[in-house]
Amino acid sequence: MSKLYYICKYTPTELLEAMGAECVLLDGMTESFSEAERCGHPNLCGYGKAILEKVLTEGIRELILVNCCDTIRSVYDILHAAGKMDFLYFLDLVHDESECGAKRMAFELDKLVRAYREYSGNDISPEQFAAAFSHSENAPEDFIGILGARASGALAEMIGGTLPLPVRNLTCVSGRTVEKPEEFSLESYAKALISQIPCMRMNDVTGRKMLYSDPHLKAVVYHTVKFCDYYGFEYADLQAGSDVPILKLETDYTLQSAGQLSTRLEAFSEQLLPDRPETMGAQARTDGTGRGDIRTQQKKENENMTTGYFAGIDSGSTSTKAVIIDADGKIISSAMLPTGAKVSDSSLAALEKALKGASLSKNDLENIVTTGYGRKTVSLGGSRSVTEISCHAKGAHALDPGIRAVIDIGGQDSKVICVDENGSVTSFAMNDKCAAGTGRFLEMTGRALGLSLEEMAERGIKWKENIAISNTCTVFAESEIISLVAEEKSLDDIVHGLNRSVAVKISSLIKRAGASGPYMMTGGVAQNRSVIKALEEMLDCEVRTSPYAQYCGAYGAALYARG
Ligand code: ADP
Repeated sequence: MSKLYYICKYTPTELLEAMGAECVLLDGMTESFSEAERCGHPNLCGYGKAILEKVLTEGIRELILVNCCDTIRSVYDILHAAGKMDFLYFLDLVHDESECGAKRMAFELDKLVRAYREYSGNDISPEQFAAAFSHSENAPEDFIGILGARASGALAEMIGGTLPLPVRNLTCVSGRTVEKPEEFSLESYAKALISQIPCMRMNDVTGRKMLYSDPHLKAVVYHTVKFCDYYGFEYADLQAGSDVPILKLETDYTLQSAGQLSTRLEAFSEQLLPDRPETMGAQARTDGTGRGDIRTQQKKENENMTTGYFAGIDSGSTSTKAVIIDADGKIISSAMLPTGAKVSDSSLAALEKALKGASLSKNDLENIVTTGYGRKTVSLGGSRSVTEISCHAKGAHALDPGIRAVIDIGGQDSKVICVDENGSVTSFAMNDKCAAGTGRFLEMTGRALGLSLEEMAERGIKWKENIAISNTCTVFAESEIISLVAEEKSLDDIVHGLNRSVAVKISSLIKRAGASGPYMMTGGVAQNRSVIKALEEMLDCEVRTSPYAQYCGAYGAALYARG
């Protein structure tokens, strides 16, 4: 007999352990879904694929699944058809907490006992059953709760390593709370099982309020899985009815977008403690690189230095920007270079170019802060990093203190950041890993039309026919464009259609972030007047910008360096 894996908090692990099973949680995200995609339907959600991938690639022979949703039913069907498991069981959970529900659940447990007895030859040991319960009390301390769809141990660890308070994973199995029944009977155990804080699959989910009414709960990371619609309502309720800051984190149950996840988490951390973003950056670096030590050392070296110059470097996916400011926060020099293959090289080159423009040397700088997608890779003599979300907010607020939302459209991502009257981030939303609604989308589609970035910026202004480009995916939009060109539609109208498609994406981010104007657009795409115009048409209000729009992240970083 091997380990018996389970996935759901309603799995009767105490009962199975009383029959000699070694119950192990099937946990963890995967790197890819190659096996799962070979044998499963492409419509399976990432969670279902992750279960399949693990079972198929890690030689798992015993598994108990629960009727959580259609995906888990499909996972069972696929594994059952493959016929490679020694023990595969599908438990019919009763989604009703009533006395009647407990009786039905006891009946289902009895079926499971008979199936496992036949497989293992073991009977229930009441002593082992009593010993199988464990109960741990949480210390009464402030914490950040992970709620929503099941968060794997790896994701919870990543969240815990980034946020500034202890983190409790309250999702699915991690929030398992089965009380030990006073006496052993299948019915009393069934009652205890279904009386846990309900998961979103139960008929009555009001008991979930317990999860977010704890006065020690200071913030929530709400996890959702792509294509799973069970948690949308709870998230919306929580957002509308709770005062604590909430970060919605969507994953597809792989670690492929770890970089984006960590940017969101770090920005949330900075949002929770807006006065000390650099401290949190250091906390986030629990990766053993020792960079925190270099920082302390550099800080000591610079302690007595008062040259009055500070630098910010934004190592973006497409271009690297450097800004130098004086002690009053005035921009005295800026430079931009393509990011290229080595972010450290381009960052150093951009900094040197900006220093040259200001007739300064690196020794004249009191402090440097890096931001952008390469922010943690760049190491410039103890520079520290702050996310581009906080930096764009700080930079944009300094350029125009009246704004309340920043729309940053860069090379490979776009963000909407809400700021208060002090320029602190109050919420934000970011596009996922797809390039829709970003500068890359405009570059690629412009290339398909044979237009340069500058021509794209002009072409979309004087449009006549409102063409809807329905595909926001770059690849599909390119073929749509080819059809429009074949129909001899005017370039102005096609470009306007593309701009509108970016504006639609941004509008949905605005909604997700709960943003309202006055708006300022930052990032390289802010140089595209026709995109700004399309946004203004869609939002029906002015979208401000600045000649420093593309440098806004680097400017914010320099302001953080000034402290
Ligand atoms: P990142 O920080 O991700 O590198 P940027 O904020 O520097 O991105 O923006 C880069 C994007 O800006 C490019 O992908 C391009 O689409 C757009 N862009 C840059 N220059 C111009 C321009 N002159 N006109 C229109 N768009 C531009």
